[in-house]
Amino acid sequence: MNSTDPIGARSRALFERARAHIPGGVNSPVRAFRAVGGQPLFIARGEGPYLWDVDGRRYIDYVGSWGPLLFGHAHPKIVEAVRAAAMLGTSFGAPTEREVEFAERLCDIVPGLDMVRLVNSGTEATLSAIRLARAATGRAKILKFAGCYHGHGDSFLIKAGSGVATLGLPDSPGVTPGTANDTLVAEYNDLAGVSTLLDAHRNQIAAIILEPVVGNMGLVPPEPGFLEGLRALCDVHGALLVIDEVMTGFRLARGGAQELFGVRADLATFGKVIGGGLPIGAYGGRREVMALVAPSGPMYQAGTLSGNPVAVAAGLAMLDLLADGKVYAQLERQSSRLETGVRAVMQRSGAALCLQRVGSMWTLFFQAGPVRDWPSAARSDTARFARFFTALLERGVYIAPSQYEACFVSATHDDTIIDATIDAIGDALTEACA
Ligand code: PMP
Repeated sequence: MNSTDPIGARSRALFERARAHIPGGVNSPVRAFRAVGGQPLFIARGEGPYLWDVDGRRYIDYVGSWGPLLFGHAHPKIVEAVRAAAMLGTSFGAPTEREVEFAERLCDIVPGLDMVRLVNSGTEATLSAIRLARAATGRAKILKFAGCYHGHGDSFLIKAGSGVATLGLPDSPGVTPGTANDTLVAEYNDLAGVSTLLDAHRNQIAAIILEPVVGNMGLVPPEPGFLEGLRALCDVHGALLVIDEVMTGFRLARGGAQELFGVRADLATFGKVIGGGLPIGAYGGRREVMALVAPSGPMYQAGTLSGNPVAVAAGLAMLDLLADGKVYAQLERQSSRLETGVRAVMQRSGAALCLQRVGSMWTLFFQAGPVRDWPSAARSDTARFARFFTALLERGVYIAPSQYEACFVSATHDDTIIDATIDAIGDALTEACA
C-alpha cells in the first residue's frame, strides 16, 4: 500500500507546472482525473502490467494506454521493432514496403476488409470514414448512439460518452448548428429507435456508426440481435454500417468484434490497438467504397505522417505476437479469473454494484445495473466511484479515472497480479461503500 496521499509530491508539482502552458495541464481531457479529484499521476515508465509514477510508486495498470497494450508495457519485441525502424529513419512521406505488408495482413485478418488506408489516430479514422460514407451515398446525415465516442471530430461531439460525459459537457462549443443538425442520435441497444429515425429521414442518412461493444460509457455489450438488426436496417435504407473498432479491433478477437459477433461492416475504423501503443489509425472496408478514396477516387483524405514507418513497424510486431491467436484464450482466462474474484468481493460488500465484461474489457458500475445504454449508465453513483478509484490507487491499482470508461486486462496480468487486484478491489469497496 502506498503512503496516505494517493498522489505523490512530484506529480503534484508537475501538474502545477503543466497548467501554465498546457490547457488544463494535460494533452487529453480525461487524463486530468477531474471525475476523481482533479490531480493526475505523472507517469515515468511502464513494464508489462506495471506503471511507475514520477514519485517511484508502482501500480498494476488496467488502463493500458486506453486499450492498445494487449501485451503490456514495453514488450521487448515491440520495443526492438521501434528501435530498428527508427534507426532507418523516422519519416519519409513516401511509400514503404512495410506499409504494403501491414495493409495485406490487416485485410487478411479482419473480415470484410478489402482495402485499408492508414492514418494517425482513431479520430482521423472515424472522421475520414464518415466523409467517405457521405461521398459514397451522396447523403449528409449520420446516425450515432448516445454515449458512444468516436474521437473528437465535430460530427461526433453530440452525446459523446466518456471524456465529454465525465466533464459534464453535453456538447462542445465550436461545433456548428449545421454539423449538429446532421448528426442524429439514438439510444444504444434500441433498434426500434433507430428504425424510427431512418424512417423519419428517408434517403438522408449516409451511415450508422457505433462501437460494437461500447467502452466509452463504461463497458456495455450489444444485446443479442442488435448488431444484426443494424446491418439489416442499413441494407434496407441504403446507409453504410460503420463499425468503430478503435477499442475492440484486435482486442476482443483477432478480427475484432466483426469476427466475434459475425456481423459485417461496410467500413470499419481502427486506432491505437493496431500500433501496439504508437500513434496510428486505419479505416477500410469494401473495395468499391474504398476505391472512392483519393488518389484512386475523388474523396480527399491525406496525411504527412500517415503510415509512419516506426508506427507500422510496431504494428507489424504486434501482429506477429498475436499471429497464433493464443493470446485471446489467455486474456479470456485471466479476465474471467478477475471477474469471478471481483463478483465474490462485490457480494461481500453488499453494495449496489454491477460488473460488465466482454473479453478483456470490463467496468464495475456503482449501481445495480444492468447498464445497456446511456440513460442507464448515467444512473451510476459517480461520487462512490471516485472514492473507490482513490482507495484502489492507494492500494497500487490504477484503473480508468472515470466511471464511464472500460478497463483493460493485458497478457502480462498473470494469476498473482489478478489475485492481488481482487484483494485490492475488495478492500477498496469496503472503504468506498462504508
Ligand atoms: N473511437 C473509439 C471507439 C474510441 O474509443 C476512441 C478513443 N478512445 C476513438 C475513436 C478516438 O481515437 P483517438 O483517441 O486515437 O483519436
